[in-house]
Amino acid sequence: MLMGPQNLAVHLQLVREQVAAAATAAGRSVDSVTLLAVSKGHPASAVRAAHALGLRDFGESYEQEARPKMAELRDIDLTWHFIGRVQANKTRPIAAEFAWVHAVDRLKTAARLSQQRPYHAPALNVCIQVNVAAEASKGGIGPDELPELAAAIARLPRLALRGLMCMLPDGEPVERQREWFATLRGLLQSLNARGAKLDTLSMGMSGDYAAAVMEGATIVRVGTALFGARPAD
Ligand SMILES: *Cc1c(COP(=O)(O)O)cnc(C)c1O
Repeated sequence: MLMGPQNLAVHLQLVREQVAAAATAAGRSVDSVTLLAVSKGHPASAVRAAHALGLRDFGESYEQEARPKMAELRDIDLTWHFIGRVQANKTRPIAAEFAWVHAVDRLKTAARLSQQRPYHAPALNVCIQVNVAAEASKGGIGPDELPELAAAIARLPRLALRGLMCMLPDGEPVERQREWFATLRGLLQSLNARGAKLDTLSMGMSGDYAAAVMEGATIVRVGTALFGARPAD
């Protein structure tokens, strides 16, 4: 379904209201939550329209799809986040083009991103994806292996390890969503208690972002609720 800018404005207002309501209910400042607009499956024109409505952070999952879109949008100031799985043969363009990578789950990939991050660019912000529900279909490291991976990634010179990311099983009731998100927050807190300095919880998508904000999300990654269903879905 393609959407006009008017629909986008309406959807954006709704998402902002829900984020604000959840933040307020949790005693948090709404400014502590970044709305990351997931533009995968949507054209550059949708990103331009969202930018005109005040959005600055955009997420893409496929490097091949993102590259021409990003090239077309060079005239506006955007922060690009790579939120998909990082394939080993795509680390170089990802390290060159993006400001953030959200789904790092192995040291080898992180080391390549660090090595390939251009010297003129600031450190690449990364999050480690944690497979909180131990789903076979999802990427991410198990909680047990997290401390070791986090310590190793934190030592890489061209990366800034910022925090943790997760994706939940579909169709969970809100109370269960909150439990999963609280699990990720607990993992972040225990890393920080051991001396890490992580400030980012990348959690919450169209179906569960309110629960994520209640549990401390600092970045919510929202696609469908803003742009409508993806044409490819
Ligand atoms: C596609 C995607 C999203 C956005 O999903 P919606 O349900 O459309 O909001 C968020 N995070 C990741 C990692 C994704 O791949």
